[in-house]
Amino acid sequence: MLEAPTQNRQVTTNQPIRFVIFVSYGNDSIALIQWAHEQALEGVAVVFTDTRWAADGWMERVDRCETWAGSLGFVPYRTSSIGFRELARRKKGFPTQRYQWCSYILKIEPGQRWLEEHDPDARAVCLIGVRQEESADRADFPEWLPRSENHGGRVMIAPFANWTTEQRNSLIERAGFEVLPHRSRECKCINSNKKDMRHFTDNDWQQIADAEEEIGKTMFRPHRHLGAKGAAEMRKWASSKHGQYRPPNQEDAVPPDDLPDEDMTGCKPGWCET
Ligand code: SF4
Repeated sequence: MLEAPTQNRQVTTNQPIRFVIFVSYGNDSIALIQWAHEQALEGVAVVFTDTRWAADGWMERVDRCETWAGSLGFVPYRTSSIGFRELARRKKGFPTQRYQWCSYILKIEPGQRWLEEHDPDARAVCLIGVRQEESADRADFPEWLPRSENHGGRVMIAPFANWTTEQRNSLIERAGFEVLPHRSRECKCINSNKKDMRHFTDNDWQQIADAEEEIGKTMFRPHRHLGAKGAAEMRKWASSKHGQYRPPNQEDAVPPDDLPDEDMTGCKPGWCET
């Protein structure tokens, strides 16, 4: 990431909140903040949803991005939640693609609580960076909703809904940031794919292994990852070529052709960014 540009630095004001951008500070977030800046929007709150499960180094990026958002005259905030690990501890297990309760507890509910506290009359417009071309389940994502239930009944606008990746990237470049070659890393996600995992550091894998040991379950489901069980094996799976991973003691086994190498399920639209 380049240094945050300083030419747009302004003094933060106490003006009422008119627009809310929920961010993870991945590519879509940077583009959306820049879009709001180029539209000369005023009264913009930029709200980071803190899962307390960010990948190594991501919170330093959050600090830098908040400084940048503040330099544009926007006001950065952070939501609070019990955090991914404590949630897994209380639930005695990890969320799955089928039972993805983490999105609601770590992101949606804290976001709704933040909205109730800072915009009790529900007058603010919520901006989100979802694009239809991201995945099949976002193909019909609307450009706007007069009443978004996930945002406490407020108006929701998705200005990039039918944009291409190139259009989004041009905003990131105009903001003075580099386009990240990976998804947002504010949460070491249960839906991480091989590419995401290859960016996990020793520290990240250690945190996953520690959580698995404490909770007594694996964070990633073996049957969706060619039988890889636990953080150490998942790491080997993540660095293997497609279809080449074999679990311990099965090195000579030939996997069935129809066994998926990984699960490609995405996160809930608008809250768990891709
Ligand atoms: S990013 Fe992944 S693990 Fe984190 S809350 Fe969203 S779905 Fe759950």
